[in-house]
Amino acid sequence: MRKGIPALQLMLISFIENEIIASNHEPFKFIQKWIFFLRLENKVIQLYLSHMSSRNIVYIREFDKFDDNGSIICRNTGCENLIKSPFRKYCSKECNKQFEKWYYHNFYWDRVRSDIFRRDNYTCQICRKKYPYTYRKKFARSRGLECDHIIPRSLYEKLGYRFDSLENKVKTITEFLHNHDNLRTLCKECHKRVTKEYLRSNVNASEKT
Ligand SMILES: [Zn+2]
Ligand SMILES: [Zn+2]
Repeated sequence: MRKGIPALQLMLISFIENEIIASNHEPFKFIQKWIFFLRLENKVIQLYLSHMSSRNIVYIREFDKFDDNGSIICRNTGCENLIKSPFRKYCSKECNKQFEKWYYHNFYWDRVRSDIFRRDNYTCQICRKKYPYTYRKKFARSRGLECDHIIPRSLYEKLGYRFDSLENKVKTITEFLHNHDNLRTLCKECHKRVTKEYLRSNVNASEKT
């Protein structure tokens, strides 16, 4: 609902920055401060929204690593290099790129769903109807399409998947919840029907036992 606000704010900020701050006059110092806080607030709103919308289960900061002395080491899997600059999480640009690619394509729901839509050519895998799509912030979206878990998400516990440690979270997500083999593109109507059928068969099965 509030998704329009950050975009509008950003437009306003960049307009002011480009048009007014370029003159670098003393009276505009307070505007610079104001812009700083606006940017900060904007970041917080965007972070909040992205966490809300993507149902992010494992945060990237959970992969932070430390050596025995408590010094931070490169976040990338298999890399043990110490980090020289403060506030950095990676030893090099390559490690940064490699790890973020792995992280976002596996753990960030908007990214995963976009990958599935693209793999399935924006086509419902049951009725084979293709739907129009748009790219927003590099992620494919479509009004008509949804991403379906072939083996329902709710079964994760029954299948032995856990969320009690980082290792188990990674396993649950990469092997089950966000496993591309367990995901498919469905149109809204087919998705609804499949879910209904599943729920009905589930009720019947539990009545028998
Ligand atoms: Zn590294
Ligand atoms: Zn369909």
